[in-house]
Amino acid sequence: MLKHKTALVTGSTSGIGKAIATQLAADGANIVLNGFGDADEIEAFRASLEKDHGVKAVYHGTDLTDAAAIEDMMASIKSELGSVDVLVNNAGVQHVSPVEDFPVAKWDLIIALNLSSSFHTIRLAMPEMKEKGWGRIINVASAHALVASPYKSAYVAAKHGIAGLTKTIALEGAQHGVRCNAICPGYVYTPLVEGQIADTAKTRGISEEEVKKDVLLAAQPTKEFVTVEQVASFASFLCSDGASQVNGSILSMDGGWVAQ
Ligand code: NAD
Repeated sequence: MLKHKTALVTGSTSGIGKAIATQLAADGANIVLNGFGDADEIEAFRASLEKDHGVKAVYHGTDLTDAAAIEDMMASIKSELGSVDVLVNNAGVQHVSPVEDFPVAKWDLIIALNLSSSFHTIRLAMPEMKEKGWGRIINVASAHALVASPYKSAYVAAKHGIAGLTKTIALEGAQHGVRCNAICPGYVYTPLVEGQIADTAKTRGISEEEVKKDVLLAAQPTKEFVTVEQVASFASFLCSDGASQVNGSILSMDGGWVAQ
């Protein structure tokens, strides 16, 4: 389905991004990996994408809080694999703290990574997508793009911002074959959530089991975590012809959380 296309998945060394990169490689796209982590593990993952799916895969360890570094990465990708056809803005971090104690540096980091980095990748990928008359931009947002939870001011602000960016880009790309949508998962069991369970337990003074049951899945009516494979298959669908009229949509995948 995506043969001869290039997909950049930010934050694809772990969790949701890793699963999306795997799925898009299975769909035939050449893959650009990005994110932090153990160099040997990342190289093994990169090589496995090439071996298992017969695609090309490259890795850029670019820190996406650095706009100039994003420009360098996008230029390198163009010379390595051609311009980006499928852009998945997925990299993100969380910090849990009451607003009065929220570290200013954490606010700046979360806005830079979870929101501004997507503006930069989009502005740099958009010209060639428009020129080719085809592009797919998928922003991995969150249920927190639609509703709030306490102690997550930066994350909720950034994710609500991503929803607005998604709609704006959808309108700008609409007549150029470019589609832009946001996937809004509820709680997905990944390293990000594991860290959050520990942080929330500390902030609220309760056990990690209580956080899972009474805080995280309290909002998720199915009482089940979303899986990374489910998010990846949603992203794959959004790249398919069947989804070509899905544009500017803020798509929930949260077991019914925001239906309440
Ligand atoms: P994760 O911690 O498993 O992965 C995050 C990825 O981002 C990693 O590859 C990491 O190396 C990368 N990253 C972190 N800082 C970076 C930086 N400065 N520059 C480049 N890469 C950086 O997290 P995840 O749970 O897979 O989350 C992925 C996305 O999904 C995030 O945007 C998150 O907000 C969103 N999300 C997650 C959940 C969930 O429950 N896990 C729910 C809704 C939305």
